[in-house]
Amino acid sequence: TRKFFVGGNWKMNGDKESIDGIIAFLNQSAACGDVDVVVAPPTIYITYVKERLRAGIEVAAQNSYKVAKGAFTGEISPAMLKDLGLKWVILGHSERRHVFGEKDDLIADKAVHAIESGLDVIYCIGEKLEEREAGQTKEVNFRQLQAIVDKNLDWNHVVIAYEPVWAIGTGKTASPEQAQEVHGWIREYLREKVSDKVSNETRIIYGGSVTAENAAELAKKPDIDGFLVGGASLKPDFVKIICARS
Ligand code: 13P
Repeated sequence: TRKFFVGGNWKMNGDKESIDGIIAFLNQSAACGDVDVVVAPPTIYITYVKERLRAGIEVAAQNSYKVAKGAFTGEISPAMLKDLGLKWVILGHSERRHVFGEKDDLIADKAVHAIESGLDVIYCIGEKLEEREAGQTKEVNFRQLQAIVDKNLDWNHVVIAYEPVWAIGTGKTASPEQAQEVHGWIREYLREKVSDKVSNETRIIYGGSVTAENAAELAKKPDIDGFLVGGASLKPDFVKIICARS
């Protein structure tokens, strides 16, 4: 069985004052069931958050570069994240892809390097609205997946986040049926292209307007193994999402 996984992606939000509030509700939350909880603050606050969070909640970075060090102004490396005691990094988020123009090749290289450096990767994929409407949902998600399938990486260190771009920050959550359909396709793809074991064991989490209200229904679907939460991860309701399956 796959352990439930809930990530909070804070994106470029927060200051010390509001972060203190988030840390307070996280630290006060009781552990609930068997669930991995990971929050991803803006890079500059990683240390601030890590030093204050209770044990049992991990900190992730929102991005990292594909090499360990060098002349890459503005970037951070997996080695640096490891140095700070981090275990997780989010890669390929739709905002990295579509606001900052990151392509499959770069994201796959980053994933390989992060895993080789000892991090676990939350690898994000998802189609845009016009792609869904053009009937390209499968093709787009499979292409984004294939980029890392090609790399023969160690799948024990990957969580896949299916985040349809049309559902991110829009309040238009995928219905449990819509999400399950794509999660099922992803799992079948892994079975075909990688192995039964990887297909059965890899966690596939959903992201896009997840709230305390819709999380429980989504969490009932057989191939939805957790969530990557944006806006709602900044609010006390996040604790309810963490407990959505308990
Ligand atoms: P929202 O939950 O704000 O829609 O964001 C989802 C997301 O992009 C998480 O990475």
